[in-house]
Amino acid sequence: MNETLLDLSIRDGLTGIYNHRYFQEFLAMELARSPRYDNGFPLLFLDIDHFKNYNDSHGHLDGDSLLCMFANVLAGRFRKMDLVARYGGEEFVILLLDITCREAQRLAEELRRLIEEYPFKGGETQPGGRITVSIGVASFPDHGPDAASLIRAADSALYDAKHRGRNKVCVTECADIIQTSTLT
Ligand code: GH3
Ligand code: MG
Ligand code: MG
Repeated sequence: MNETLLDLSIRDGLTGIYNHRYFQEFLAMELARSPRYDNGFPLLFLDIDHFKNYNDSHGHLDGDSLLCMFANVLAGRFRKMDLVARYGGEEFVILLLDITCREAQRLAEELRRLIEEYPFKGGETQPGGRITVSIGVASFPDHGPDAASLIRAADSALYDAKHRGRNKVCVTECADIIQTSTLT
């Protein structure tokens, strides 16, 4: 009974992956641990492109199914030690432990491509004919020394990815765009 209640409190009701609250707790725990281990970690902030268009074309129930499928694809791609959570709406976060920012960028790019190529139901009605995602990457402690500034940095990189045309990975302040494909 207690276990079920605990599970309900840390999981997102729609997708079943971890929720915003658990992400914040997990991040706080990692931040508390980090001085002892002297290691940083990257945070990926993801936002599905033109998701409102998907809801408008297919209805909110199909939109919900898409969010579940999307969350499944994410959760299936990462290791148990990484944290994949729904931040809210069509936004997701991934905390990657024990890898460098450079490796995280490479992983983010792989993920962007995986989503672009994944045969999501109804993707053909989206601009560009498929479901795509924009990803911002920021790294603790270089881009943000605490939870709020780390999230802000990843969010701002995500904003850059959107601004530069979507379906892209950007690192903080967009010093580096590692993907610039255009949709055909
Ligand atoms: P952008 O590429 O700029 O991110 O465009 P967007 O359309 O994805 O962004 P916008 O913020 O305009 O719209 C997000 C949409 O996500 C609007 C909202 O109705 C939808 N949404 C948020 N949460 C849920 C949910 O739980 N289920 C469904 N079906 N839709 C949701
Ligand atoms: Mg959004
Ligand atoms: Mg969106």
